[in-house]
Amino acid sequence: MSFLTDIDSVHLIQLGPVRSMFRSTQPNWLLLLAVSIAFPSTGVAEEGYWPDGKTYCVTLTYDDGIPSQIVHALPQLKAANLKGTFFSAGGVTYRWSQEDLDQVREQGHELAGHTILHPCARKNDWVKPGDASEDYDDARMAKELDENLANLINNGVKRELATFAYPCGNTSIGEDNHSYVPLVKERFFAARGTQFGFEIPSQGNTDLFEVKTVAGHERDLAYQLEQVTNAREKQGWLVIMFHGVGGDHLAISADDHKEILRFLQNDDSVWVATFQEAAAWVKSKQAAAPTAAIEME
Ligand SMILES: [Zn+2]
Repeated sequence: MSFLTDIDSVHLIQLGPVRSMFRSTQPNWLLLLAVSIAFPSTGVAEEGYWPDGKTYCVTLTYDDGIPSQIVHALPQLKAANLKGTFFSAGGVTYRWSQEDLDQVREQGHELAGHTILHPCARKNDWVKPGDASEDYDDARMAKELDENLANLINNGVKRELATFAYPCGNTSIGEDNHSYVPLVKERFFAARGTQFGFEIPSQGNTDLFEVKTVAGHERDLAYQLEQVTNAREKQGWLVIMFHGVGGDHLAISADDHKEILRFLQNDDSVWVATFQEAAAWVKSKQAAAPTAAIEME
């Protein structure tokens, strides 16, 4: 299945070096002083960052609007009493009916944006001619994002709270590969990228328009649970990105998915929040501690 390997290769590229964190600039000593007072140099999150005394946060996300998420993920989430975020509105990968959409919404999950045509780089052989990310200019992308947002609003999403995930984690468009993050910022509340890892928002450098993630189909259950416990140790925010659950592309088995949910359900120290809820919390903390909001770009 070339679709799978090509998306994988995209993700591998996206796992490359951290791009902006270490970009060298003249240090702003006042800023550094303020940050070091607010966040002692342990490299670990401050106590009490998350609400209700929780130690860490996990967000369960499901991309592309595919049938196995309805068949397997929804009942498992319901049984575990956990809510997820479905980046699913529109798209060539999208195979939900309106009934499916209604069901996701009625069960209290977050419906979120993922464009309409799912533009990815032309090098992927499943990308339709004319619909590659290189074929987009700002006007075309803006129009598609507007349509995406309108679909979400029609399905009960509040305009000012709608979140987004970049198809293939690709944040650029056009032959010159320029960023369309500004267009996303104009329309959405926060966005998930595909850079590997988890966030430690108390350190003040979380970019809410390219939140890191770990792909839920990678390796095995032990590896996935290790990502969760790593995030717990650092009091971080782990966003897990699922595609197929017990079927479809980039799938995790239904059993392994259930075990991840079981682990979370039995861990009193975790806050399982939708992408919107977690982003809102981080945003409120950033607003409360503006000196720590280091400019990323
Ligand atoms: Zn996708």
